[in-house]
Amino acid sequence: MKEQRPTRRSVLRGTLGLASVASTGVISRAFAQEPPGPRTPGLPGTAAPPGTAAPPGPGAPARIMPGTQVVLLGTRAGPGVDLKRAQTATVILVDGTPYLVDCGYGTVRNLVAGNINGQKIEKIVFTHLHNDHTTDTPALLSLQWTGGRSTPIDLYGPYGTASMVRAIVEYCKSDEEIRTVDEGRTVKVADLYQGHDVDAASKPTDVFKDARVTVRAIENTHYPEYSRSKMPHRSMGVRFDTPTRSVVVTGDTNYSKNLVELAKGVDVFICEVMDQSTRDRWLEQLKQDPQAGEKASVARHVAETHSTPADVGRMAAEANVKLVVLNHLLTGAGTTAPISALIDGVRKVYSGEVVVGEDLMMI
Ligand SMILES: [Zn+2]
Ligand SMILES: [Zn+2]
Repeated sequence: MKEQRPTRRSVLRGTLGLASVASTGVISRAFAQEPPGPRTPGLPGTAAPPGTAAPPGPGAPARIMPGTQVVLLGTRAGPGVDLKRAQTATVILVDGTPYLVDCGYGTVRNLVAGNINGQKIEKIVFTHLHNDHTTDTPALLSLQWTGGRSTPIDLYGPYGTASMVRAIVEYCKSDEEIRTVDEGRTVKVADLYQGHDVDAASKPTDVFKDARVTVRAIENTHYPEYSRSKMPHRSMGVRFDTPTRSVVVTGDTNYSKNLVELAKGVDVFICEVMDQSTRDRWLEQLKQDPQAGEKASVARHVAETHSTPADVGRMAAEANVKLVVLNHLLTGAGTTAPISALIDGVRKVYSGEVVVGEDLMMI
């Protein structure tokens, strides 16, 4: 949809818009239990009559925007924690309804900062189960329950997702027992959360479909063959098609021809990236690593299972995507290259527009 394609300016406007909303003090609403009685028109994610979106201001509910927007909640790579970027998570808003892809540490806070109502998330898709993509899931789910959620949520991802969700239900058990006795809660946590394992393979497979979106997945190259052959775990990229826009979230991956197929002609290509000097450093370390002769090591994992800007550009060019958004930034502490080097690296191969993702950026 050509008219939907954002310019760099509109991306920045979106970021600033979110930042300004985040500073208005609506924070506590995102996981607050709704009061009894009819819902207030205009609450995020509910069906507000046309033209009734509340004006921004302290305590105001989030504005419901028509169409499809993407909000990057967390853009850092790996299982560390820092104060500049949250771990990976992306929201796709379709006519105000949020769909969550990955749920790394910091997701819950940035839902609040972005004025996106976490209570309204009913579908979560995991690209893979590395903990930088899942760590905030117990927090999100348990807070939905204490926030008054009473209708089910489905969580999709590769092998292990259903098991992880059952474990989160178990994690909630003591809190549930206490609040059931002490607060008279009646909703069972086990009735709310259902995990579904998706068979990611070399052809797109359906994840789910509803009135707003069709979601498909394909296996990517984050787990190399020497690992895949020893475990049932898989890693995947996902594609959302809505009435107005198409979006691919690659997940963690090296160059992947499967992803090229999934992303053909997509409007927004959200791709992980590792700068070239970081890969070079890890390759150098790999040479000196006492485990270098073995297949499995952290150095080998980082060096071989992520995408340089050139890898991103190659996939974007081959898939003829309309916009590249760099995400899951793996730049390393010793990186001296400016962030613009990531864009330059992609554009050596891909001639379209490239944006470096930031937390709370809206696209
Ligand atoms: Zn990751
Ligand atoms: Zn990963």
